[in-house]
Amino acid sequence: MLKLLYSLRLPSLGVLTLSSVLAPGAYSASALDAHEHGHATLDIATENQTVELYFKSPAVNLVGFEHAPENNDERDQLKNAVAWFDQHPIIDIVNRNCELSRSSIEETVTQEAESHHHHEHDEHEGTHSEFIVNQTLYCDTNVTGEISTAGLLKQFNGIEELDVSWVTGSGQGGGEATRESMILNLGD
Ligand SMILES: [Zn+2]
Repeated sequence: MLKLLYSLRLPSLGVLTLSSVLAPGAYSASALDAHEHGHATLDIATENQTVELYFKSPAVNLVGFEHAPENNDERDQLKNAVAWFDQHPIIDIVNRNCELSRSSIEETVTQEAESHHHHEHDEHEGTHSEFIVNQTLYCDTNVTGEISTAGLLKQFNGIEELDVSWVTGSGQGGGEATRESMILNLGD
């Protein structure tokens, strides 16, 4: 139902503009290409009631490992992490009622499995994998003010610092969310 509602809005120029803002490389004050365990990045673009999110994290922060899953426990952890991003918005907009209208999750953990299939086990050491999550939220009123990263940071203990950058109708900015400080303010 919600997906249908959103797809009717897709042709609007506004959404297309948001997508181009978050196109890889187009904007990324926070997009440290460095893969640093404990750190993750989030780019946010808002336009009126729509929020586009681009989240990138080393897999170890989310599942505790980066090699191809080797047992059922690891397979479950991977499945659970993907399911969480499929069902939960990465951020909550404080004082807004928002629906997760799209979530696309890419993880390179299982890709490691395929590309390194023929290698010896110990060659997995030193390989790194990531999660990249792209979400669209659609809110009941225009998005301004505070956002909360509590849902994400409480779900995934491995994220010690989340570097956040945003582009809104009134400008751009950024900040860092940690377990001690999970609220950021996007401004008016
Ligand atoms: Zn790594």
